[in-house]
Amino acid sequence: MSSKTLKIAALAGDGIGPEVMRAAIQVLRAIEKKHALAFALTEAPVGWAGIDASGQALPDATLALCRASDAILFGSVGLPDRDPTLPKEQRPERAALLRLRKEFALFANLRPVQLPKALSHACPLRPERQGDGIDLLVVRELTGGMYFGQPKRTEEVVEPGAPGTEPRRFQRAIDTMVYTTPEIERIAHVAFRSAGLRRKKLTSIDKANVLENGILWRETVTRVGKSYPDVALDHMFVDNAAMQLLLRPTQFDVVLCENMFGDILSDEAAALAGSLGMLPSASLGATQDGVTFGLYEPAGGTAPDIAGKDLANPIAQILSAALMLRHSFGLEDAARSIEAAVGKAIADGLRTGDIFNPGEPAAKKVGTRVMADAITAAV
Ligand code: NAD
Repeated sequence: MSSKTLKIAALAGDGIGPEVMRAAIQVLRAIEKKHALAFALTEAPVGWAGIDASGQALPDATLALCRASDAILFGSVGLPDRDPTLPKEQRPERAALLRLRKEFALFANLRPVQLPKALSHACPLRPERQGDGIDLLVVRELTGGMYFGQPKRTEEVVEPGAPGTEPRRFQRAIDTMVYTTPEIERIAHVAFRSAGLRRKKLTSIDKANVLENGILWRETVTRVGKSYPDVALDHMFVDNAAMQLLLRPTQFDVVLCENMFGDILSDEAAALAGSLGMLPSASLGATQDGVTFGLYEPAGGTAPDIAGKDLANPIAQILSAALMLRHSFGLEDAARSIEAAVGKAIADGLRTGDIFNPGEPAAKKVGTRVMADAITAAV
């Protein structure tokens, strides 16, 4: 892989996007040198920056660049206060991000949640529930289940009333949960492979006691698991998982969920890390010739309240670049170099405002640039 030039589209977007993207690119350049890699990294506008540049949230040229790339490193898009008259379909969140997810059939969403011991204060749980630090990965199916199943509509219902009374009229909303075995199999493979790179434990979430989907999910994941004998698989009902994430989050390594359960549980898990500024994410599509197409972005948004002030935490964006190296390019060592460099900056006491606690004696409050420089130097 290292002999090949890896083509990366870097779309910084709006708000804090450009500041944190600058930090991630700086770190990638250091990684390129350290691991003798070749990145062809091209920047392009998206979001309001795209609208300002060429009238579209996802300009044609930006989309063409993404199509010609192996992976997209994405910042964030959307500025709630800009032009409230612009219709929803043309606003950046839909016209850029959802369009990219659809265009590249990104079916797997990965959200690692890590709470280093040193940031224990940022976690809403008591320290004794945090063990030696929380470190889990939520793998969420992104294109199926209740959010996309058909039929999906709201309809008028008229029921005959009792004799001599008016008919009863009301509305009925219908959503449909549908999964096929191929859909479950492909996301299960992603989860098992991810677990193989970590502590080799996979907890599959379902509601097999109530839902047909849950039974098929459990059977299919169990069958796929036979090809991964080194990964220990267990199953948990979603309601119990919601509770266990708060009671004993350290029991989890990789957590595999269908779309809606993953939507909810990944946000619950994210809250454990204390700040959006620490959380990267990956959305993966198809694999071709050893490269998995993916879009990598921080879990948070454009943070307009702190944009342009050197206050943003660049770690979520930098760790998103690490996920790109791991999941798109299979560069595990390079990914770990980035994660170790982030760990060193945290261990050295550097804190952006979102993770700063004045009660920590050795902590030093820094801005985006100083944090980025420290992580780059640590690489
Ligand atoms: P947000 O995630 O931008 O901000 C929520 C809070 O978290 C703010 O207080 C912000 O300062 C803080 N925060 C977020 N990232 C941070 C970082 N790296 N460092 C320090 N603090 C950080 O959510 P919001 O305010 O609800 O949304 C703002 C805009 O972003 C909206 O237009 C929304 O639609 C958009 N958005 C985009 C994406 C995306 O592009 N993937 C995701 C979420 C929200």
